[in-house]
Amino acid sequence: MRSARIAILAGCIGCCASTALAEPAPGPAAVRKSARGDAAAFGAFVAALRPDALARGISPKTFEAAFRGVSGPDPAVLARIKGQGEFGRPVWEYLVGAVSPGRIARGRARGAALRATLAVIEARTGVPASIVLAFWGVESDFGASGGTVPTVRALATLAAARHRGDLFRDELLAALAILERGDIAPEAMRGSWAGAMGQVQFLPSTFLAHAVDFDGDGHRDIWTSEADALASIAAYLKDLGWNPNVAWGYAVRLPEAFDLARHAGDLSEFSRRGVRRVDGGSLPEAGAAALFLPGGAGGPVFLITDNFAVIRAYNTSDAYALAVGHLADRLAGGPPLAAPWPSGAARLDRAGLQALQRGLASEGLYSGEADGRAGPVLRDAVRRYQIREGLPADGYATPALRDRLARP
Ligand code: CA
Repeated sequence: MRSARIAILAGCIGCCASTALAEPAPGPAAVRKSARGDAAAFGAFVAALRPDALARGISPKTFEAAFRGVSGPDPAVLARIKGQGEFGRPVWEYLVGAVSPGRIARGRARGAALRATLAVIEARTGVPASIVLAFWGVESDFGASGGTVPTVRALATLAAARHRGDLFRDELLAALAILERGDIAPEAMRGSWAGAMGQVQFLPSTFLAHAVDFDGDGHRDIWTSEADALASIAAYLKDLGWNPNVAWGYAVRLPEAFDLARHAGDLSEFSRRGVRRVDGGSLPEAGAAALFLPGGAGGPVFLITDNFAVIRAYNTSDAYALAVGHLADRLAGGPPLAAPWPSGAARLDRAGLQALQRGLASEGLYSGEADGRAGPVLRDAVRRYQIREGLPADGYATPALRDRLARP
């Protein structure tokens, strides 16, 4: 799951931008000294990379072309590393931005224009057109914003700074392999500051393993070919194990007095227990599902399937997966969410989540890190505590729960 771990970095550009401003800026002399050090480390890194690249079948010609005009690290990328983002933001803040009315309208128009292509892709991969479109929309606003940062320089900057160990060095070697195969010219290989490329925001290793030449011109072009971009998204999801028989999940309503403690089971069982889709459709007869209440018992409720985990493999984030799923529903003509999200006072920030994690750990209910990140592991721990205490088991972390756990 290495690609999933990197994808979170690549994909969080929109949700954790501009957090680097809290610390006082260093003086001009310190900046010059630091920049000289960065440039020296960069030069040494590229020189050491060359024999490794050549040993892996990269030709000297490709290597020279990739680094032509790249004499030092990208300062904007270095600034990004030094300003990592927040993790405590609630799911719905991301969701509201990612599934805006404008994006829904653009997505429907793009989907209509590309209907024939999407139909062939769906027939070949089993991934619904609406899901492919939604990924495309969230990753690059339907191809409009695939990123303009030169990928080789960005990856070399991250690798030379030893950001995340060897991860970006491996990605840089994968990027050189793509150039060696001639899928794209070095100057056109562009994307995000974190090395995610083109309309689909694939890291180079993901590209090598999953990208597709759908339009048949001999190049896997996720930068300028919409057909290649869409087919590559679908191929990746198919390879990750997309199940064509169920949706990503379903926005649902629960009946009165529903027992939240029984939160996982078969879709048919949820039907029998009175769970109904918000859009009026019926739930499939077969397939495993689990309840997901990202805003607690008063907010929107979802039944998520194994395909939700497939989306999280593309980018390990509940907010991201929910945004893709809900955008897909809206692009297919589905209704808005049926319940409101909680107000600001009803949620925990990162420090609050850490306190909750420590409280749950002291009760023997949580064994992960106290990292302040919400996700399936914390949700399960909260639910176990709620069940033990006889509380509504929605798995949602609240200030009240934190306070209750902090009491002696
Ligand atoms: Ca092509």
